[in-house]
Amino acid sequence: MFGKPLDSYTLILSMAMLSVLLTAFSLITARSMPVRRTALHAWGLATLLSGVGLFLLQMRHEWSWFITSFIANTLVLLGAAYGLLAHDRLLDLKLNRARYAAPLVLGFASIACTHLFGLPQRVIVTAVSAAMGGLFAMNAIALLQSARTQWRLITAVSTATMLLLTAALLVRAFASAFGAADTTRYGSSTATNLGPFLLDLIYTLNCSLWIFDTVHDQQRRSAEDAAQRDGLTGLFNRSAFFELAAATLARQPMKSCALVMLDIDHFKRINDSMGHAAGDSTLAHAARQISSSVRLLDLAGRYGGEEFCILLPGCGIDEARELAERLVADAARQSVRLRDGRTASYTLSAGYAVAEVPTQPHAADELLSILLERADQALYEAKHLGRNRAVGARQALAPA
Ligand code: GH3
Ligand code: MG
Ligand code: MG
Repeated sequence: MFGKPLDSYTLILSMAMLSVLLTAFSLITARSMPVRRTALHAWGLATLLSGVGLFLLQMRHEWSWFITSFIANTLVLLGAAYGLLAHDRLLDLKLNRARYAAPLVLGFASIACTHLFGLPQRVIVTAVSAAMGGLFAMNAIALLQSARTQWRLITAVSTATMLLLTAALLVRAFASAFGAADTTRYGSSTATNLGPFLLDLIYTLNCSLWIFDTVHDQQRRSAEDAAQRDGLTGLFNRSAFFELAAATLARQPMKSCALVMLDIDHFKRINDSMGHAAGDSTLAHAARQISSSVRLLDLAGRYGGEEFCILLPGCGIDEARELAERLVADAARQSVRLRDGRTASYTLSAGYAVAEVPTQPHAADELLSILLERADQALYEAKHLGRNRAVGARQALAPA
């Protein structure tokens, strides 16, 4: 570089030190990111195994063959496999074990056979390079799949590096199998020796950045989601429901929108007769029932103590009635199995209202509060008529 050959020993020592640093950083980050701990541990192990393994490989002419080939190749192979595992865990891919097994078996078999039967060293170089190329290729495919749902520059750069590394390893495997003996000689400054190592360095750095960035991104999203959810029921809490419902009304092009308000009947009696824990289980049960009955685009929230709200974008009076009546009927049929073996039963009252959606976005807040008020009135009427029923607001709302 810059007219001077790169010193492979200095390069490889720097890389080993960098790997240890990244390992420490992964383990420290894992302590504060419990949800992604296994992925970070796998990445920490990947950087450590690869760093130490690559360092040992380059010491071929200084130390024994057993350390610098048998152990070193085993470590770099395992390092690449743990790298794939880290991506697998972080992206929840649940890759088939055979995908790990095939390259690992190829690599380990070549290492063991060379050790046992005294095969030429190029057997290991060829097989381990090809096996690692396979692991990196699968890693690149995993990253490409993740880029389909969320595109990020760091993902594109990491994928490109992985693909280059895959190509370099396959060239190395090919050169080792068919080329001149010393093109892949460790410690040499040839492109086939240093190329893959340099790319490995760039890969380790890029992927570390990708992994830390992805973990932080996932952590931020889950914190944001948790802040919007009610702890007991998992439904949107009151403020998030208002915010998301108003945003939905303002954003989505639709002719009409419906709102269903539900209240558990005589809920205080459940608390009083069976205890607060039974009341909590009943609330959670009702929320599960609501969640499983709505569409993905509907918004379900816990409006108050034992009151729930569902916004049905694009729905008219018939769909609102159908959902409200179904929820009321389902609640009356089901019973809640409590932790202590007892069962609790409950009924629901529902009020629903429908509105035509105005085109001006600023009317969304106003429309939502009118919808809530009308559904609440209908709910009050359902209670008044004897509970365990669904009642619709008297007329559909049209924009003023
Ligand atoms: P109605 O049929 O008229 O709605 O009667 P109700 O008993 O359901 O209504 P009321 O408003 O009298 O009582 C609601 C009760 O809900 C009172 C409150 O203690 C209880 N509650 C509110 N939040 C929770 C909660 O998170 N857990 C439990 N266990 N109870 C709660
Ligand atoms: Mg109630
Ligand atoms: Mg109530």
